[in-house]
Amino acid sequence: FADILHPVAVALEVAGTGAVLPAASGRPDDWFAHDGQITKRPIRALTLSALAPRPGEMLWDIGTGSGSVAIEWLLAHPATQALAFEADATRAARARDNAAALGVDRLHVIEGRAPDVLGGQRLPNAVFVGGGLSDALLEWLRTTLPHGTRLVANAVTLESEALLARWHGDMGGELMRIELADAAPIGTRRGWRSQYPIVQWSVTL
Ligand code: SAH
Repeated sequence: FADILHPVAVALEVAGTGAVLPAASGRPDDWFAHDGQITKRPIRALTLSALAPRPGEMLWDIGTGSGSVAIEWLLAHPATQALAFEADATRAARARDNAAALGVDRLHVIEGRAPDVLGGQRLPNAVFVGGGLSDALLEWLRTTLPHGTRLVANAVTLESEALLARWHGDMGGELMRIELADAAPIGTRRGWRSQYPIVQWSVTL
């Protein structure tokens, strides 16, 4: 019966109980070492969909944290490239280790604060802002990057949400509010436990 299966399916059968990295973006959070600061799986899947990686393209992942977004960009196609920027030294090192562990050690992690560290780097086709969102950062990106660069920014606080609402009002693009809930115990029964809403702005510069 095994010989009528696809060869990959046979290989997986033979691999037995070993962990197999899923092929789609939005891989489980526990594939990435992290300290709680990670873009959670469903939000990450929507973020990668908005970033829309294509072969040969370069991503800037600003506030890379665990590196999960940049790593999934690199896993999307072997010819993609990524630069990750992270202010915290421990997290920068962790992002490098995560990339190496998942076979995409072509991730370059640059330690420092955006926008200061962005100047002089190879220009991106797409930019994700997962941390360090500010008027100064968006202004730097708007005035420095070529027309046609795709920008995706996620906000979780009221302050950064207000900032994105203002920029969407000025520049257009798509502003999306993502509200998710997980089933969780209420005594012996279950109820919906809401996650913090995420506001995502996507725009082509
Ligand atoms: N997308 C990440 C999570 C980002 S959490 C993941 O999936 O793992 C936000 C990160 O932005 C934090 O690690 C924080 O240290 C970093 N950060 C905040 N301000 C920054 C800035 N100005 N420049 C670079 N990194 C910054």
